Amino acid sequence: MTRRSLAAAGSIGLLYFVSAALSLAMTRFNGGPALWWVSSALLIADLVPRAKSEWGVRIAICFAMSVIATGLVGSGWHLAVPIAVGNIGEAWVAAVLMQRLMAQKVVTGSMPSMLLAAFIVAVISPIVAASLIGLSLVSHGLHFADTFRAVMLSHGFGNLTFTPLALQISRRGFRRLIVEMGGHRGQHALPLLALVAGTAVFVFSQQTLPLLFVPLLPMVLVSYRLGYSASALAVVILAVIGGAFTLSGHSPVHSIGAAAGYELQFLQFYLVTTIVTIMPVAAGMHGRAKLDREIRLSEARYRMLAEHSSDALVHIGEDHRIRYISPAITRINGRLPTDLIGKAGALLVAPEDRDHVLANHLQVIAAAGDIVTFEYRTIATDGEPRWLEERARLVVGKNDVIEGVVSMLRDISVRKANEERLSQEAYTDPLTGLANRRGFELAIQQALAKRAIGSTDCIALFDVDHFKRVNDQHGHDVGDAVLHMLGRVMQSSVRDCDTVARMGGEEFAVHLPACSISEALGICERIRTDTAKQTMMAGQAVVRVTISGGVALFDHDYLPQALKQADQALYVAKRGGRNQLALAA
Ligand code: GH3
Ligand code: MG
Ligand code: MG
Repeated sequence: MTRRSLAAAGSIGLLYFVSAALSLAMTRFNGGPALWWVSSALLIADLVPRAKSEWGVRIAICFAMSVIATGLVGSGWHLAVPIAVGNIGEAWVAAVLMQRLMAQKVVTGSMPSMLLAAFIVAVISPIVAASLIGLSLVSHGLHFADTFRAVMLSHGFGNLTFTPLALQISRRGFRRLIVEMGGHRGQHALPLLALVAGTAVFVFSQQTLPLLFVPLLPMVLVSYRLGYSASALAVVILAVIGGAFTLSGHSPVHSIGAAAGYELQFLQFYLVTTIVTIMPVAAGMHGRAKLDREIRLSEARYRMLAEHSSDALVHIGEDHRIRYISPAITRINGRLPTDLIGKAGALLVAPEDRDHVLANHLQVIAAAGDIVTFEYRTIATDGEPRWLEERARLVVGKNDVIEGVVSMLRDISVRKANEERLSQEAYTDPLTGLANRRGFELAIQQALAKRAIGSTDCIALFDVDHFKRVNDQHGHDVGDAVLHMLGRVMQSSVRDCDTVARMGGEEFAVHLPACSISEALGICERIRTDTAKQTMMAGQAVVRVTISGGVALFDHDYLPQALKQADQALYVAKRGGRNQLALAA
């Protein structure tokens, strides 16, 4: 144990002793217990925020202080130890219960949990003290029931009055509490607390009993304006001033003409009424201030997110109009939020995509809270189409009223362009720029979808004759250049609606839609002769090539079969001497 923590334990011991001795000296009548006991409140507040390992030394010191105070000022040394067991046992029970409930988050800042805490310190733990002290005073000639009642009241009221403030001080520290109450030096709290003190002094120093309710007004003001800790302090101010006047015999309580003990109990009930009026208000205000702060913080976070994100946040109302849109929209499509808010949401969508977006928004409503993601084009103010990705979610307000759709809009134009380029590349032969095998299949799929009933297509396969020799004589690069030029020749020999593709190596395919076999033969013959006539220059090389071709009817929709027939015909053309066409059987 460090010297510092020992000194701290010593100071709680000293406080305990002084408060106990004062209670006993001033509030004890007819040999009974003290009628106003605040020492337990101090010890409870000291123990609650500490680890149990620190409790031992404090409990031991305060136990000794209780023994000495009772021995010197109270019922005497022969009863000092059992009474100390009652006093310290009370604080221990309260601290254990409070700590457990706080750890389990049962006791928080809320009003019901504060009532529970009040019940622990004002009822449960005083029962411990009242039972033990009641029993020990029986031998002193006092009735158990009388002592029990007196101790219950004096400890219960003392704890209720002093624990809230003491607990705030020991949990958060003096300085922080003062700042929380009223700014840097507590200055904003001073006038109101001074008003409470002044009113208390005024009403307790005169003799009209009903005026005792006047301090309620500044107390209520304190709880509204300054919150929980200041209210706890105001209660203590009122208790100390009221107690001092009552004990000195000058307060209006005198006018009821009861015994001194009853006067004190009258004052205690008066204080409880005040506490019960004030503290729930204070707790409520405290909770509201906390909620306010959280809402402000969350609003600030949300604002920061909305205004600094590169994605735009948009809220479209039930009437399809834009209720809110964040500044990022300007970077995405050039318009200012002020030009968009109140306008139709369709303004953000390119006309050809509006049905698609509407369908997706219906989906968002059906999805009831799940996020729906979809893409569409927007027209920027510079006239350029941009691609947006929208992640949308339904907003439902109170009583399930639909408040519209809230979405994040992201500019995905770059990604879209990349995707387009990649898919283009996936369907294109890089050497000739013609379609590759996949591009050819795709083109045929699309053409088949449009083919009129009864119409026939044709397929032709071409292979360069003796192409090995070109490579052998001129090198592979010249071979490549020849393939490239061949592609151009073939492309220019067909109709616009035909598709020429390089299927691999020096093999080409042509799809001829809406074409009889004799028309197809005519077109293919043109391809063959155009190729044969062509003199191709590649670097220093001058190359002439011929091609052979197989032509097949494609009157069904199973491409592999048509290709196989064309290939068999091509084989026939090769065997027939090359530079010629053959028709599939
Ligand atoms: P034929 O078709 O008349 O029977 O004789 P060929 O010499 O053309 O024989 P084949 O079709 O079997 O050979 C194809 C040759 O084409 C083999 C290869 O050297 C060449 N070739 C295939 N792909 C490429 C290419 O991308 N670039 C170049 N330069 N040559 C290729
Ligand atoms: Mg070949
Ligand atoms: Mg060949």
